[in-house]
Amino acid sequence: MSESKKSLTPLSEIGEFGLIQKLTENLPHYHKSTLKGVGDDAAVMQYGDKFLVMTTDMLMEGVHFNLVYTPLKHLGYKAAVVNFSDVFAMNALPRQMVVSIALSNKFSLEAMNEFYGGLRLACENYKVDLVGGDTSSSLTGMAISITVIGEVDKDKITYRSQAKENDLICVTGDLGAAYMGLQILEREKKIFEDLKGFQPKLDEYEYVLRRQLKPEARKEVIEYFHTNNIIPTSMIDISDGLSSELLHICSQSGTGCSVYQNKIPIADTTEQAAKELNIEPLICALNGGEDYELLFTVPLTQYDTILARNDISIIGHITHASEGCNLVTELGQQIELKAQGWNAYKE
Ligand code: ADP
Ligand code: MG
Repeated sequence: MSESKKSLTPLSEIGEFGLIQKLTENLPHYHKSTLKGVGDDAAVMQYGDKFLVMTTDMLMEGVHFNLVYTPLKHLGYKAAVVNFSDVFAMNALPRQMVVSIALSNKFSLEAMNEFYGGLRLACENYKVDLVGGDTSSSLTGMAISITVIGEVDKDKITYRSQAKENDLICVTGDLGAAYMGLQILEREKKIFEDLKGFQPKLDEYEYVLRRQLKPEARKEVIEYFHTNNIIPTSMIDISDGLSSELLHICSQSGTGCSVYQNKIPIADTTEQAAKELNIEPLICALNGGEDYELLFTVPLTQYDTILARNDISIIGHITHASEGCNLVTELGQQIELKAQGWNAYKE
């Protein structure tokens, strides 16, 4: 092995976030209109009276989706919605989208029409204009890259970084279902491969499967914020699991947090599926990814306005940084939160 080769750093050593940090260290901004670059759910730019936000996501066949059990229409829908979710996490509304795809020979026009059917449906449901993209060939299957631009009034933009001590920590919907959906799909795929011709019965898992295959982003919650003049002090969407996202908010806000185990929303169907597969439901909620719910903080004064909605749970509060980030169990024990969410390069 040559000297230079010896000193190479494997990506598995630094992980996904470490890699992003190294690559984007000291990136200069040449324009005053660039308000926020790397480090939040979307970049923020100022044009006229509005702030624009821009976010992009890439999905690779075999890594992010498996076409054995992912219908292409659902894949198109999900690919769009995960980007809308990042826009909502800035308290903004998505407006335009560009879509780039790389395809191998195994795909037909009919298959790609299915995929675009999903994209179109997502654009219709969330009122987003598909305005362009790029198409290329691929040697290894399908790759999808989607970029979405959104807009928000200047005074409503929400970052990850402004959570304050005593703020309420809130989460929309319920957690862990998408992860359980994936586990069920993986299990059925194995059985299917072993027993040729086996038709899985998936009706009882309808909810968790839908959460995995055709997730929705929380547009109605952002609209509620806007009409009720709620500006969260911090917000992030839950793509990598509650623990990981809480740690992002706390590290960027310079705070700690306490969240309560018995307040974390988990659907009954998620619990049932988890028990069946011998997985602890709480672990799905804390570390399972792809829920696309919103995690946000608001001042205590917003307590009543938040309580008015039954699709938002208050799960804890922000503390001083010195107290650390903790989960308080049903028995009152404090457990330090650790990020064990999805990470592209770490095992
Ligand atoms: P999310 O999970 O919300 O999509 P990520 O964890 O993917 O966010 O990204 C965190 C931040 O790092 C974002 O601001 C994103 O724009 C930035 N980022 C990710 N990958 C790169 C890259 N290759 N080059 C520059 N910035 C990146
Ligand atoms: Mg995000």
